[in-house]
Amino acid sequence: MKQTKKEKKLLLPQETHSHLKEKVRKQTDELKIKNAQLQKGVDREKLADDQIHILTKAVESVLDGVFVVDAKTPDFPIIYANSSFYSLTGYTKKEILGKNYFLLCGFDVNERVSEEIKQILFQGKPYHGEIANLKKNGEKFSSLLRMAPIRDIQGEITHYVGIKTDITLMKEKDLEIENQREEILHVTRVGKLAEFVSSLAHEISQPLTSILSYAQAAQRIFAGREPQLQEILQYIVNDDHRAVEVIRRLRTLLKKSKPTFEPLDINTLITDTANLMMAHITARNKIIKLKLDDPLPMIQGDRIQLQQVILNLISNSLEAMEASRESRELMVETSLQGAGMILVEVKDSGCGIPLENMNKLFTHFFTSKPDGLGMGLSISRSIVEAHGGCLEAKNNPDGGATFYFTLPVNMKQDL
Ligand code: ADP
Repeated sequence: MKQTKKEKKLLLPQETHSHLKEKVRKQTDELKIKNAQLQKGVDREKLADDQIHILTKAVESVLDGVFVVDAKTPDFPIIYANSSFYSLTGYTKKEILGKNYFLLCGFDVNERVSEEIKQILFQGKPYHGEIANLKKNGEKFSSLLRMAPIRDIQGEITHYVGIKTDITLMKEKDLEIENQREEILHVTRVGKLAEFVSSLAHEISQPLTSILSYAQAAQRIFAGREPQLQEILQYIVNDDHRAVEVIRRLRTLLKKSKPTFEPLDINTLITDTANLMMAHITARNKIIKLKLDDPLPMIQGDRIQLQQVILNLISNSLEAMEASRESRELMVETSLQGAGMILVEVKDSGCGIPLENMNKLFTHFFTSKPDGLGMGLSISRSIVEAHGGCLEAKNNPDGGATFYFTLPVNMKQDL
């Protein structure tokens, strides 16, 4: 007679049956764990793949040139570069991969720089600096290069990652700003010199007139006598006339050109002037803060002249702070003063003004500097007054000085 499965099973001894059951359960559990682990692995792998995908996309999207160099080979071969790196250097992927980074980017032009970078990297330190590069077509460009070592889990340097940013435009802009600043400084210097010569001419004309009068009086006294003395007196009169004529021509030449008045936003003028001075200020390790009341009504003024005043006050403040390392901050502030007047204050944390100098500051030729002309403040005051305002100075209670001037709102007049 044929037995069914169930019957067969039932025929097994009780002990063997439970033992088998336990075994199957164990195997099932193990399988479940393995399956979960496997699933985890797959998930992790997928996550890693996703992350790599996002990372590659991100690196490919940045505008900076990103590249990776193999550190195990002595000749710095590039093993990866993003598309921005290709457009930055002008080379194709084929031309870049495997090539020595330093030779490719025109470092052979300046071997000292590439050696310096390599030495820093060999010490396991990151490099950061501005360098001059060559594109494939020989065109020069400036870049900001940052390179850092990549280490494996044992801490061994395996690669270097680099980021290259094209700063050519930025450098050109800086140069443009520097040129503009130099131009205004030049105009200011020429202005000061012109004013200086003009004042000098004025001072000299008076004694020349006296000399002429004395010589002519002597000519009258000795008329018809002392021919030798007469001859000398005539020389004096002739030379005096010549000197007066030279001075007259000089004063005509130095006659101020008519200022051109136009509607101006004083805040913009201050911001522009501060920008022009920025490199100069940071090079001296000083900082400038602008506290501009915004919006302010327009004023009528001569852009160049007012810019000269602001530039002059800022330069003086920087010089006043030069001696002290602690004096760093310079503040330019604007505000609206009641009845249609704008107040501009240039506040420094410099040496301040000795009380005995307070009344002389705005007079021609007053200077406390060994190489000063003593014309800046007197010119600035006359410019501000020609605009219908006042320029004054005071010491700050917490140290340093403030030079401040007012300008009327919407003044429409010609000088
Ligand atoms: P210069 O700069 O050629 O000396 P200025 O007319 O611009 O001529 O300045 C005259 C003098 O005023 C300076 O020599 C200096 O003694 C004083 N002075 C100007 N600005 C300041 C300031 N911010 N702090 C202290 N003293 C100043």
